[in-house]
Amino acid sequence: MTREFASSKQLGSTVSATGGVNLSGRAALVTGGGSGIGLACAAALAAAGAEVHVVDLDAEKAKTVADAIGGVAHTADLADQDVIDTLPSDIDILVNNAGIQHVAALHEFPPDRFALMQQVMVTAPFLLIRRVLPHMYAGGWGRVINISSVHGLRASAFKSAYVTAKHALEGLSKVTAVEGAPHGVTSNCVNPGYVRTPLVEGQIQDQAAAHGISPGDVLSDVLLTRAPVKRLLEAEEVAAAALWLCGPHTSYITGASLPMDGGWGAS
Ligand code: NAD
Repeated sequence: MTREFASSKQLGSTVSATGGVNLSGRAALVTGGGSGIGLACAAALAAAGAEVHVVDLDAEKAKTVADAIGGVAHTADLADQDVIDTLPSDIDILVNNAGIQHVAALHEFPPDRFALMQQVMVTAPFLLIRRVLPHMYAGGWGRVINISSVHGLRASAFKSAYVTAKHALEGLSKVTAVEGAPHGVTSNCVNPGYVRTPLVEGQIQDQAAAHGISPGDVLSDVLLTRAPVKRLLEAEEVAAAALWLCGPHTSYITGASLPMDGGWGAS
């Protein structure tokens, strides 16, 4: 039965959450599922019938989302390698979504922050993929969805750690696709431009400081300057793409990167 996104009104129209995708009997794990894109992915997968494990650093957010969608909450700091072994391994759909940002010029970028971002956005996805692949291989089906970014394909100033991590995630996704293909496992990246989430709201403040302009000008003069479509993307739109990649007509799509960038890459 088709349910609707709670916040689909942000799209200005009613959106079918399932798009005809039936995930009954499938188990999904979404990192950073307590907020933004992860929350939207968790809700969409649950609406399509999957049992969803919501993993987040923030215990309250994880529980709130899990309770709302009938999923299972896990509090975990993905910067801690040992925590990966506490998460379930019998997962059919893995959404590597958790991410953080830090904006600073390269010559001033804090090395410990750089290392942390690689840990959360590259090493944790690697360890999670490594952990769930045996179950996917045994079942002959699996979907690895990596929430990359337009910055997995392009660079911007002041984002050295983020651009490095997302480019690495692209490589990891491709290797997963190559190795997973004989086992019915696909791996793809979704590459959003700027999405209306708490992460971007924080960036607006940081970019204002880095560029020496007002927060009000950051949206028009920095974030949206390169995308012909002059609006922020909504988290539910990213979730709809992730859900589609779990659907019945996508088994030949693997090792791909799906730009959702409002034409940024074309311009
Ligand atoms: P968000 O800040 O709204 O949510 C991120 C979630 O990840 C939070 O709930 C946070 O608690 C969790 N998290 C952070 N560090 C963690 C850790 N160490 N362990 C476990 N959980 C952790 O962010 P968002 O905007 O929804 O971004 C989600 C993903 O989408 C990120 O990978 C981001 O790079 C990517 N992305 C975002 C945008 C955008 O414009 N918002 C664009 C392209 C890609």
